Formats: sequence, C-alpha cells, structure tokens
Amino acid sequence: MIEFLFPASCPLCGNLVSTDGELCADCWTSFNWIGNPKCKKCGYPFPANLDFGIHHLCPQCAAGKCVLDLIRSACVYDDVSKAAMLPFKHAGRIKYSAFMSRAMMWALRDIDIKPDIIMPVPLAYRRLFHRGYNQATLLARPIAKAFGVKLDLDSVHRIYRPDMGHKNMAQRAENVRGVFHVTRPDKIKGKTILLVDDVMTTGATFAELYKVLKAAGAADIYGVTFCRIVRAI
Ligand SMILES: [Zn+2]
Ligand SMILES: [Zn+2]
Repeated sequence: MIEFLFPASCPLCGNLVSTDGELCADCWTSFNWIGNPKCKKCGYPFPANLDFGIHHLCPQCAAGKCVLDLIRSACVYDDVSKAAMLPFKHAGRIKYSAFMSRAMMWALRDIDIKPDIIMPVPLAYRRLFHRGYNQATLLARPIAKAFGVKLDLDSVHRIYRPDMGHKNMAQRAENVRGVFHVTRPDKIKGKTILLVDDVMTTGATFAELYKVLKAAGAADIYGVTFCRIVRAI
C-alpha cells in the first residue's frame, strides 16, 4: 500500500526505481566511480592505460606519505558528485545517504578490513547545531550496520574553527591542527578504526585525526569517503 502511494523513485531525478533510495541507471552512470587501476593504499585512480606493473602505489604513498593506513573513495569529486554533495550536506537531502553509503561499501569491496569501530569525522557542535545533522554520521550508520560493528560518536571531540574556503594542503592542515581531542581514549586504545567522511579534499582532516587517534593508541586507521578530489600527480 505504501509502495503504491509512494513508488520508489531515484533520489536525484525522481525516475521510478525498484529499490527506494537507489539511483536510476541514468544517474548511476553519470558518476565517475573509482574502479581499477588505482593506488592500492590510498585509492587514487590511475589512468586506465597506465601499467604500473607491480608498483601499485601512487607517488605520495610510495613516498610513505599516505595520510591513513588505507583509504577508499567511491567516486571522483566532479560536477556530478558536487551536485549531489551540496544539497546532501547543506540542504537536508539526507535520503542521499542510502545510495552514497552503498557506493562506499562497494569502494571497500576489494580490501580485507575488520574494523572494531566506525567513526564519522566529528563535526564541531556549533556546526552540528546549525545544520542539524552530521552528514558523515548519516553515511557511517549503514556502513557500521554492514560491518556489524558500533558507531563511535563520542570518543573524539572537535572544536569549532571557521572555514577558510579553498586552501592548499598546507593551509588546510594548519586550519585543522589541534581541532580534535580524544575524550574517550579507553574506547580507542588498540582498536582498528574506519573513519567515514563525505569528501576527501587534501586529506588534511584525516591526517589530523590519524595523529590524535594514534597518540591515543589506535591500531590501524582506515578511511572511506563518498568522493575525493583527484589532482594530477
Ligand atoms: Zn535518477
Ligand atoms: Zn596512494
């Protein structure tokens, strides 16, 4: 009856689909999903015609500069993913979390990880108050369910700092420095953690979280995002 009244429709364009919350085929194919080849550590997509042989690491990871122990992203940040991200993040289109989190699980399919904790990148309380939700938590919830582990929403606290807009890696790193504090080290120590965020820009946020979580005794720390900015390397 409910389905008759409200048939399942694509969250982006409204086309009828078989499963509520899922994208229609047209919308699905408009995203730049990250497949292979890619960096086996950070997931950076390589050009399809590039043969890296046995060296499946991007230059940054090969130089030991990956910001986490492993990172995967579902798609490239471009006009299509941006058009979905902005209303999801700023205009309450929270139902997008269904297809986004599914795509993120897909992005994790080729790696064997067993996280103890799923942690959405914390939002400062002031931002949470204004927005009403943490978009990363919406993405993390179905992922935690799929892994059968708990969401951790209170082990790390983030202080408010105004956004500096589009900045380079060094400036973003500076802006995020010191914003995270582990408030429950007992829940972090010895744990393998999967961090969840909507977008990876420079990786500065992940890098800062990595620093404080490792200092609190975390074991491996992985990250998954819906999209990532891909710069030429
Ligand atoms: Zn659609
Ligand atoms: Zn890499």
